[in-house]
Amino acid sequence: MKKIYGSLIHGKWIKGSNFLNVSNPFNNKTITKISTSNITQTIEAIKSCQLGFKSWSKYSAKDRSEILKNFYSLVKKHRTKIAEIITLESGKPIQESIVEVDYGASFIEWSAEQALRIKSDIFESPESGKKLFTIRNPIGVVAAITPWNFPLAMVTRKVSSAVAAGCAVILKPSELTPITALELGFLSLEAGFPPGVFNIVNGEPKMIGKVLSTNPMIKKITFTGSTEVGKLLMKNSSSTVKNISLELGGNAPFIVFSDADLDAALNGFMMAKFRNAGQTCISANRLFVHKSVSNIFTSKLLERLKKLKVGDGMKGSDIGPLISNEALKKVINHVSDAKKNGAKILFGGNKHKLGGLFFEPTLISNVKKKMKVFQKENFGPIIPLIEFDSDDEVINMSNETNYGLAAYFYTKNSTTIWKNLNNLDYGMFGINSGKISTYLNPFGGLKESGIGREGSLQCLDPFLETKFALWNYD
Ligand code: ADP
Repeated sequence: MKKIYGSLIHGKWIKGSNFLNVSNPFNNKTITKISTSNITQTIEAIKSCQLGFKSWSKYSAKDRSEILKNFYSLVKKHRTKIAEIITLESGKPIQESIVEVDYGASFIEWSAEQALRIKSDIFESPESGKKLFTIRNPIGVVAAITPWNFPLAMVTRKVSSAVAAGCAVILKPSELTPITALELGFLSLEAGFPPGVFNIVNGEPKMIGKVLSTNPMIKKITFTGSTEVGKLLMKNSSSTVKNISLELGGNAPFIVFSDADLDAALNGFMMAKFRNAGQTCISANRLFVHKSVSNIFTSKLLERLKKLKVGDGMKGSDIGPLISNEALKKVINHVSDAKKNGAKILFGGNKHKLGGLFFEPTLISNVKKKMKVFQKENFGPIIPLIEFDSDDEVINMSNETNYGLAAYFYTKNSTTIWKNLNNLDYGMFGINSGKISTYLNPFGGLKESGIGREGSLQCLDPFLETKFALWNYD
């Protein structure tokens, strides 16, 4: 039977009358068409989750865990095929897509294990003859809305923890990269997810977002994406007082102190900057280098930039295309704003000669705080370089943003390390490392970077309610 890429509702694939073209950002060619969900199907999917939740929440933790382990094995079995789909629809280099599949699968395995460890507390009462205790129940039907930059890992991080906790999930993946999520839908059925435990709707984000964030059957929204949409979902969710987790934008500082191992710092920086062409919320967005090592670090960096291979993600490039015309326009706008305000382009600065959605790796100096490249999330292969004199100065500059997701720094000095950890307003740190993501991170940020954490030992907590009871047994 030919696959239907449509809405997954109650264990069945539903084809509607409207379609969405999914195209490859490398060459703008259509990969496939998917059938989108209308308002009736979206509501049907919510109702199905309500039914799914009723039975799934009664499954034993062991049974939920076993089904998630099946799901994990199937994702690993289809690792290469899924990685190819990720590259085709997102443009990221294939070697990064393989890493994403393994990273994304690790959340499924971890959540399956954590399903067996949901625990409650019991206390001695301050008064005799009474016991005090808590119980944990799954929160109910969860709506998950995910972005295009990690088409697999952002889905599995949310869905596997919710399902492990005993919740049912309705997923709306990004309209730019829905195929990976739909493939996960097929695998979830093969793994033994009962009907209504994992539904998928696709299509018009505003309409679907409004329905999901206002429908009273949905008890929780978990979202990864832009701060703007996060704020809107928060506002809409207030009408039914939904529990909400938000993982939003970032503006990560990457700080090279004077005592840093410069070669290690450079390796870490290249990783933190250019993964997915700079299109991740934890990408190094501003590079701060101590004045005493700035010349040498910059010349080493220029050598590395010259060697970067820009091109087709399927053919071993280091940097693929940006995701969309809007993304390209934003990067062009940030660079021209910097130039207009006196910045100097040390490398790149233009659309790449390959055309399409490619932009050159770009290094910018003479950066001022008022520039967009300093203030905003660039989400592209551009590096604003800022020199600093003292620890206090770089901490203050790093914090001059509304975001607070990830920060990186290289130093051998333990006093500097503790001072940074205490004073940088960020949720996650790479200390002498440009790579921080594992299933063990409490992943999330401060300020306008979001609310709540995903993954970690507590990965099921956002999907559980705690009830309290006082038992008078006298
Ligand atoms: P980005 O700017 O990184 O694309 P978005 O916040 O626009 O981030 O997209 C992240 C997810 O949010 C995607 O699944 C997208 O379809 C969805 N989305 C976009 N606009 C809305 C909206 N108004 N309501 C709900 N979801 C939305």
